[in-house]
Amino acid sequence: MKHFKLTAMALAIGLAFGGVVPSRAQTTGEAASPPAMKIYTLDCGLTEFKNAAVFSDTGEYDGKPLALPTPCYLIQHGRDWMLWDTGLGDQLAALPNGVEKFGGHFTVRRTLVSQLAQLGLKPDDIHYVGLSHIHFDHAGNLGLFPNATFIIPAIELAAARSKPTPFGVDTAQIAPLDQANIIPADGDYDVFGDGSVVTLKTPGHTPGHHSLMVKLPKAGVVLITGDLYHTRLNYQKGLVLRINDRPNTIASMDRFTRLQVNTHARVVIQHSPEDFAGMPIFPKFLD
Ligand SMILES: [Zn+2]
Repeated sequence: MKHFKLTAMALAIGLAFGGVVPSRAQTTGEAASPPAMKIYTLDCGLTEFKNAAVFSDTGEYDGKPLALPTPCYLIQHGRDWMLWDTGLGDQLAALPNGVEKFGGHFTVRRTLVSQLAQLGLKPDDIHYVGLSHIHFDHAGNLGLFPNATFIIPAIELAAARSKPTPFGVDTAQIAPLDQANIIPADGDYDVFGDGSVVTLKTPGHTPGHHSLMVKLPKAGVVLITGDLYHTRLNYQKGLVLRINDRPNTIASMDRFTRLQVNTHARVVIQHSPEDFAGMPIFPKFLD
């Protein structure tokens, strides 16, 4: 009797809503095939150091210059869009000579908004914005996305908001997060629930630093480093930045390199000039 009552209630609810509510996949016919998956590499600035000593705590960069591309990655998942990191900030494009801060020189040649527009997208079309970490060269355009859902670990946000303000954090830049919708996942986070895009907990550069794993139909698994590594030399030799937590960085590198081996992943080092040049040139994409 009890079972019958529940069934009747479920039927009544179903009828009230006009029967079974079809999922979006059923209404759009997406169910039969997996969602279209692509990675677009956007130019979100250039970071230059006259003396890059900070990039290794064992002296490899002492007195040497270093120029680092500062990309954002736009990920298409069917009809959904996710941005991974937001670059230096479009407002810098108005300053042809760029700015000097944190010991480096920073310029933006092309705005993020103009690159999205090239694909017919507006900032409001971006559903998710994930940040590898809250340093100013990754969090420059947060204010462009008031309606997005941000994926930012609670531990990362707390560290960035702590006093005194940590190195590399621009407090004005992260103010839009006060009003933002945030998924505060400290661990790995499966963004679309199907394993195709997963943030990977890789602390050390900052307390809540994450890398990103994307599974593409043709290219296979792609591991995007965030700032776990900055250059190919750092990756090959396991060099640790002077500002990092060394034990956590080494542990994160161990996890990352094992994952690379086990998934046969292509590694994309975000700030590496070779890796930036090796990605399809926007608006071409990796799929
Ligand atoms: Zn960083």
